[in-house]
Amino acid sequence: MKKLIFAVIALSISLFGFDYHLKPKEIAKGVYMFTGVNEPVKSSNGGAIANSYWVKTPKHWVVVDSGPTYEYAKQAHKAIKKIANLPIKLVFNTHFHDDHWMANSYYKELKVPIYATKTQTNEYKPGGSSRVLKLLKKEDLANTKIVTVDNVVDKNFTIDVDGTKFSVIKLDNPAHAPEDFMVYLKERGVLFTGDLLMSERLTSIRHGSIEGSLAAIKLIEQINPKVYANGHGKFTDKTALKETKAYLEQLKSTALAAIKKEQELDDYVKSANFDAFKKYKLFDVAHKENLFAAFKEYEFFEE
Ligand SMILES: [Zn+2]
Repeated sequence: MKKLIFAVIALSISLFGFDYHLKPKEIAKGVYMFTGVNEPVKSSNGGAIANSYWVKTPKHWVVVDSGPTYEYAKQAHKAIKKIANLPIKLVFNTHFHDDHWMANSYYKELKVPIYATKTQTNEYKPGGSSRVLKLLKKEDLANTKIVTVDNVVDKNFTIDVDGTKFSVIKLDNPAHAPEDFMVYLKERGVLFTGDLLMSERLTSIRHGSIEGSLAAIKLIEQINPKVYANGHGKFTDKTALKETKAYLEQLKSTALAAIKKEQELDDYVKSANFDAFKKYKLFDVAHKENLFAAFKEYEFFEE
C-alpha cells in the first residue's frame, strides 16, 4: 500500500510539474517581486534562483526577468492575474544568464515581445541548450525552450506603457555579464538592476568585469533609487548595493596587492582573506572562480 501511495504521489508530481509556490510581494506601488532562492540551479528548486518582477501600468503588465521555466511563468502569471487580469505588454531580460529568462517560451506563446541583449541572442539560439535545460528534470521542463528575442537592447531608450515610463539603461562595458541593462521606473523610484546587485549571496564575475561592475555601482549610486529590485536576494533596500560593492572592492584590492607583491595566482587564491564573505551563499561555488577572474583582470590593469 505504501508503495502504491508513493507511486501515485510520484506520478502526480510528474504530471503537474514543479510547484513553485509563487507569492507576489509588492515592493513599490504596483510593482511585484517573486523572490528566488539563493542556491545554484538544481532540480530541487526548479531553477527558481533569480528574482522576477511584474509592473502594473493602468492597462498592462510589464515583466522584468521572466524566470527559469515555462511552468514558472505560467504559475507566476496565474498568481498575478489574481491582482489584475491585464494583458502583458513586454518582457525584459536584463542579461544573458538563463536563470533569468528560460521562461521566455511561455511569453512567446502569448505573443508578448521580448527585449534582451545581443549577447543573449548570440549565445542562445532556438533549439540549443542551456544550463537550466541541462540541470532540471525533464518533466519540470515541459514547453521550456530557447525562443527568439524580438528586440535587441543596444542603447538607452524609454518605453511609455499607458503613461508609465520605463527607462532602459544599457551599460557601455561588461559588468556582471558581457552586456547588462537596467530598467528604471523613475516615477515609482524603482531600479531593476539585474545581477549588477544581489544580496546574501556572492556574485559571479566570470562572464563580466570587476571594474565594469564597480562603475555600474557608481551609476546606481548616482541614480539613487528608493527601491532596489535586484537580481538575487530578498532585500530591496541598500543591502545588496553594500554587500556587492564590498565584495567587489575586496576582490580588486586583494588582486592589486597580490600583483604588486608579484605573487603567483596559486598563492593569491590561497592567501587572499575573504573571511568576512564566507557567510554568504554560493561562496563555495563562486568565490574561487572570482579570484581567478580578479587576478586575470588586474594583471595588466592601469588605473
Ligand atoms: Zn547573472
